[in-house]
Amino acid sequence: MIALNSPVKPNLKKLANLLEQINENGWYTNFGPLHQELTEKLEDYLGVKNLLLTNNGTSALQVAAHAIGSNSILSTPFSFVATVSAFKWQKDELAFADVDKQSLNLSPESVRLAYRKGCKADTLVATHVYGNPCDVEALDKLSEENNFQIIYDAAHAFGIKLGNDSVLKYGDASTLSFHATKIFHTVEGGAIVFKDRSNFEKAEEIINFGIRPGRGVVDVGINAKMNEYQAAVGLVNLEEIDNILSHRAELFHMYCEGLKDIVDLPLWHPEANANGAYMPILLQSKEELSVVTKGLLERNIQSRHYFEPSLDKIFVDSHNYGSKNSTSASERILCLPMHAHLQKVDIKKVLLELRDIL
Ligand SMILES: *Cc1c(COP(=O)(O)O)cnc(C)c1O
Repeated sequence: MIALNSPVKPNLKKLANLLEQINENGWYTNFGPLHQELTEKLEDYLGVKNLLLTNNGTSALQVAAHAIGSNSILSTPFSFVATVSAFKWQKDELAFADVDKQSLNLSPESVRLAYRKGCKADTLVATHVYGNPCDVEALDKLSEENNFQIIYDAAHAFGIKLGNDSVLKYGDASTLSFHATKIFHTVEGGAIVFKDRSNFEKAEEIINFGIRPGRGVVDVGINAKMNEYQAAVGLVNLEEIDNILSHRAELFHMYCEGLKDIVDLPLWHPEANANGAYMPILLQSKEELSVVTKGLLERNIQSRHYFEPSLDKIFVDSHNYGSKNSTSASERILCLPMHAHLQKVDIKKVLLELRDIL
């Protein structure tokens, strides 16, 4: 079976060394030395400042919203459910705007229309879906015109750059997920990259019950800290990240070359690199998708209809400024196998079988 995904396995010898170090320190969580080391190494690797580790990517979204002071959200309906449920959970008001037909990212035009029609959301939540950057310039401009803040859900965008700059530098905050299924992982984990140091400092208190060292409780907080065991896995996995990213990017380009004549592919941002986080294809119809999924499985190839449904179909009581493109994409989108253990021969087989089925 060619698996859809296969998590990176941390090197156990290196991990054991770090776990021993944790025992020696007697410091298991609460901003310990490995937490510090991973923070610095990630900031360095990603080329960002103000990176705060969290216990997962969902809490990263929630904490980011608290830190920058959001209460109402305009979001994309084409994303993993957590992009939206994270905010719904904390009773933020929620509305949707549509995605662009080609990139499947939040459409600046649809966002503009939403505000023209009276949308009052103080924060835009946009996913760089499949690692493909949003039209950040256009969204930035809209945020100035309409006075909203931006949180980018960058859970798929580890290692993505626009030109020479990390895509994580855009927006008031960008969040990452380090879940085991992601490109870089700490088993469970995540991070927030803040534009402003002051928001970073606020969030650092929020993830630790609102406690400011030496001052006591200064804010309503939560427990969203990454522990030392998670940081240890991160440090071990980070040593492999260059190889993993280049391998995945190579697989992605090989797929694209072989797929471009047989299926539609989401339009990639022209100034961005690829990280090979996912391999989404767009089929012609629901029916074709179901034939392809079944056909691949019969030939021992996993695939996943992902993301579906369009999130406005789940959160039906939210204001909907448009979801036509999202609905259409979510009915036809299929992700093909993509992971660090995948080999070129596997992709050759997937391409051959897919061509045959179509
Ligand atoms: C994985 C993911 C999340 C959630 O991250 P967790 O670390 O699993 O909480 C949020 N948004 C997107 C787009 C994701 O893919």
